[in-house]
Amino acid sequence: MNHEGGTTMRLFDTTTLPPQEETSDKPVIGYVHSIESFGSVDGPGIRYIAFLQGCRMRCEYCHNPDTWNIGVGEEMTAEDILDDAMRYKSFWGETGGITCSGGESLIQIDFIIDLFTKAKAMGITTCLDTSGGPFTRDEPWFSKFEQLMAVTDISLVDIKHINSDEHRKLTGFGNENILDMIQYMSSHDCDMWIRHVLVPTRTDFDVYLAQLGDYIKTLHNVQKVEILPYHTMGVNKYHELGIKYPLEGIQAPTPDRVKNAENLLHVMDYTGYKTWRPKK
Ligand code: SF4
Repeated sequence: MNHEGGTTMRLFDTTTLPPQEETSDKPVIGYVHSIESFGSVDGPGIRYIAFLQGCRMRCEYCHNPDTWNIGVGEEMTAEDILDDAMRYKSFWGETGGITCSGGESLIQIDFIIDLFTKAKAMGITTCLDTSGGPFTRDEPWFSKFEQLMAVTDISLVDIKHINSDEHRKLTGFGNENILDMIQYMSSHDCDMWIRHVLVPTRTDFDVYLAQLGDYIKTLHNVQKVEILPYHTMGVNKYHELGIKYPLEGIQAPTPDRVKNAENLLHVMDYTGYKTWRPKK
């Protein structure tokens, strides 16, 4: 998702493990790309972040194409994560805790339900980082999502593009189901941060930024809005994986354009995060 790296990140080999076999008598297995034990940008406070493997979107600016493959990664149970995470509990305070990111975290919704349910029982604050791609109101998925929201304290939601046609060009998929997920969160008292990556020639247009700003204004429970300036730090991964980099030659936005986007998204109006505390 927005996988900025950190001082304590551990990368796992994602090339050799077999796909998960789901049976009712086995623990739910998560496929983990990497762990960041001391993250400070993916959710409130200091957080232990599990970057889960797998994503179906193909955002042109994705700087983690190594998270795309589904069903590979380090196999971990909720207990494995919690045992490891608890070593950092003293840093979490009232707002820190565990974040599940990706890749696209919702690809492994069964695992996150298991992890967050056990985390909440231990009094740990939970945060879901998602782009919403897997969201559907079809069953049985939707009931699982409702179950997940009941044990999720806050969600970081990426809106890649407010215009569905442009969203499709940028990611390979339209945004209707993603906006539907956000609508669900807005109307069910689910706290969220909204994040938007500002990419010259892709998302950095006043008309779309203003539309996105207007849209966010209609939502409830938005604690924070963040502009994430596009950067080119992921380019080497494309070269290593032998994948053509779609945004070759496109530079990071200027500070002026970042400021402009922050104004159009009314970033300064969303201050709930400063005093935010988990409700559940
Ligand atoms: S949602 Fe986009 S940015 Fe996030 S992991 Fe998938 S392709 Fe990459």
